[in-house]
Order: sequence, then C-alpha cells, then structure tokens
Amino acid sequence: MKIKTRFAPSPTGYLHLGSVRTALYSWLFSRKAGGKFILRIEDTDSERSTQEAIEEIIASMRWLNLDFDEGPYFQTKRFDRYNAVIDKMLLQGTAYKCYCSKVRLDALREKQIINGEKPRYDAYCRDKQYRCPDDPSHVVRFRNPEKGLVIFEDIIRGQIIFNNQELDDLIIRRTDGSPTYNFCVVVDDWDMEISHVIRGEDHISNTPRQINILKSLGAPIPKYAHVSMILGKDGKKLSKRHGIVGVMQYRNDGYLPQTLLNYLVRLGWSHGNQEIFSIDEIQSFFTLDKINKSACTFNSEKLQWLNHYYINHMPAEEVAVYLEWHIINMGIQINNGPQLKDIVKLLRKRCKTLKEMAESCWYFYKDFHNFNATAANKYLQSVAKQPLQTVRDELATISLWTIQNVHDALQDTIDKLGIRMNELGMPLRVAITGCGVSPAIDLTVYTIGKARSVKRIDMALDYIAKKEKSVNDLFTCIGETAPWKNF
Ligand code: GLU
Repeated sequence: MKIKTRFAPSPTGYLHLGSVRTALYSWLFSRKAGGKFILRIEDTDSERSTQEAIEEIIASMRWLNLDFDEGPYFQTKRFDRYNAVIDKMLLQGTAYKCYCSKVRLDALREKQIINGEKPRYDAYCRDKQYRCPDDPSHVVRFRNPEKGLVIFEDIIRGQIIFNNQELDDLIIRRTDGSPTYNFCVVVDDWDMEISHVIRGEDHISNTPRQINILKSLGAPIPKYAHVSMILGKDGKKLSKRHGIVGVMQYRNDGYLPQTLLNYLVRLGWSHGNQEIFSIDEIQSFFTLDKINKSACTFNSEKLQWLNHYYINHMPAEEVAVYLEWHIINMGIQINNGPQLKDIVKLLRKRCKTLKEMAESCWYFYKDFHNFNATAANKYLQSVAKQPLQTVRDELATISLWTIQNVHDALQDTIDKLGIRMNELGMPLRVAITGCGVSPAIDLTVYTIGKARSVKRIDMALDYIAKKEKSVNDLFTCIGETAPWKNF
C-alpha cells in the first residue's frame, strides 16, 4: 500500500499546538513508512481565512523542519474540480438540488426541537427536483443512504459506528455555487490519494459523512486516526486563556524546534518511560496505535525543562544557529564579538530559553556608555579603584590571551593587594559588563576580549573619579572637607 498522509489546516488563526501535534504524527507516520506527506491549506472559509495565517503555517512547518513532499495545495484554487464532481453526482443522482426556503427549514428545525428530535433535514426535495428547475436559489445536497450503518476502524480508538439515520443529506454546494468544507475534503483526499487521514478528534463526526460520499464516488476509503485533544491544567481545551499562543510564539520566546517536537510527540504517545528522543529515534519508535486515546495535559514547566535540556545537550554550534536569530532580532551586531558557539557554552547552564540567553549576552557585542545605576552605586566606589587599576594593568600586559592567562592576571591582582576575590570580582564584573550579573568573571573577561575589557575598566575608573570629584566639589561648595579626606 502506498502511504500518503496530509496536514490540512484551516488558515483562520494561529497554528496551535494541537494542530502541530497532528501534523507531526502525520509526518512521522509517512516518513517512517517511506511514504509521502502533503500540506493542504483548507481556505474555503473566505471570511475567516487570512494570508497572514497561511504564512504562519508555512513558516511553522519550516521552523519545525516538517518537510512536505507536495503542496501547499489551496482548496480555493480547486473549485472547478469540486464543482465538476458535484455536476457529475447530480447527473448520476447521488446528489440533488434542494429548493427549501430558509423559512421552511427554520420551521422544520423548530418543530423537531419541540418534539425532542435531533434537528436534521427531512429530505423534502430528495425526489422533487422537477418542482422549480429554473430557480437558481438552490443548494445541492448529498443523497446520504437512508438506512444501515457506517463502520470504520479508527487506528487510535478502535471501531466507531454511526447510524445513517442520524446523518441527514448534507449540503455540498451552497446557493452562491461554492462547495462546502466536508465535500472539498473528500474530493481532495480522493484526488491526492491519501491513504491515512490523521486529524483531531473534533472531526470524528465528519468521518461517516465523508465515508458515505467517498463510497458514492467509488473512491477508496482511507484509514482514519483521530488524535485526542490537548487540555490545560484546568482540564479545559487548551486555548489562549491558558496563555497558549501560536507555534511561532514559542520560537520568539526562545524555544528550540527540537524541544517542541520532542514535547509534542511525547504528549499522548510513549515509548516506555523514555522522555528524550532524537528525531531519528522518534521516527524509528513511532506507531499510530501507541497514541493515547484519552486527552493529555499541557505542562509549560516540563516544556521549559526540556528546552533547558536541549540547550545544554545539543552541540553548541547547532544551538548557536537558533540563538543568532534572537540576537539579530535584538539589533545586535555579532561580527565584532565572540563566536556564538562560545556564548552558548558560557551561558547555557543558566538559561532556560534562547531569548534569555540573547538578552543576557548583549555586553559581549555592544559597547555601553552607562553602568547599571544600582550595580555601579554599590560596586564602583573609591575602594575599587586600586583593584581595578591593578587588574587593568595586569590584563593589558597579557601577550597571549588565554583563559589561563586571564585567570592568572586576576589571581596576581588579589595576591598583590592582599584582597579577597570578591573585592575584585564584583567591581570588575560591573566594569566590564555594565551590570552585576555574568558567568565566572575570568571566563567573562576572556570572552569579552582584551581591548574591550581594558577600555571598559578605564571607563569604570573614570566613572569613580568623576563621582569622587562631584562629591568633593559639593563639600568644597559648602566649605567643608570631604569626610574621607580626614582619614
Ligand atoms: N481543516 C481542518 C482543521 O483545520 C482539518 C480537516 C481534516 O484534517 O480533515 O481542523
């Protein structure tokens, strides 16, 4: 059997996590079987579909590396084909024109509700097309079998049975001539030779209708797998209310695509107790029947934990490629600073996201003219002058800039002055980073580089001198001696 799956999102908003998980399962299933995977944009709802959403879908697939062999196909470009199939069905009698007015349908519905029946079309026009053949205001309905059952074997859920009496004659073409959603899906799955339809469980009720139409067309019936929902911690369907946004927002927030893929595949699918999977492992272990029938719960802490794991375990060079996007986005030029893979190595233990990493590494690339006021107030004091001056001179004389030589310069400074490392470390950190937080000070100095470090220490010394002078001037102005001059 030729395996072919599809991802068929409707471009009506963000591409959310549930949709991406379905896409991932479809992609994995076809890749593992050596089959094909296609992307089909279901954009028939012209009021809700947007170009922005289409672009977001394609960008998300690219970012996650879910490559497709065909497409993107667009349903709006295939209306001629759908209408040709409908015209043929009209000739064959598997579909019919319905002239029922809205008033009649509303009254029917109301009566059914009052009688405690499920509202459904009563097939009034089924055999009465001759009544007003020239009236253009008609819809076309599918002639659904009146009796019998629709039975299908869902790969995830097992056998599912629907009674045909519960399914009414579905509208397949509207009054304005446009084909309806369920019909387009059927023709597409047929034309595109889809062997396995893997989609959200919210489509289960569409499946018997689609199977009936496929049967009437003499088309093969694909196999179906309906994936369960993702819930928030409160047990409700995951939505914006839970702070959940589109997939690309996860990229913007500093998640790696590897994290998201690993997290999503594991959500509702398992292979023993294994939590971390490379994409190759996922491909070799993945089977549809191991997908959980019940809904699963989204856990943002676990996602963050996994991201931290990937940031720390993926080769630094690979993480650097994704970090670069964030840094460039922040408007930081990276060509006059350390290599990004070194930044990754330096910061990865302390960062859970790449955004955090990008935000805490700017001082390796960007010069600054002001120190963080709180940090400078605390650490750039007169007492720091001598340690800073001494370490500046030590660093300036290093001819071979290595971590060891930088480390030795710092050690020599504290030995020479008989001070503790902290008395040098904190003023030096503020001097060279502009703020009070950085990785180990020797590594930070080393990574910032010699010329930049020396220049920034000079700036800090200048800052201290100016501060002293302004206090001095203030005391001179009120006719006193600055208190420290008395010592
Ligand atoms: N377009 C549908 C959706 O976005 C999917 C339909 C299908 O997979 O059959 O929910």
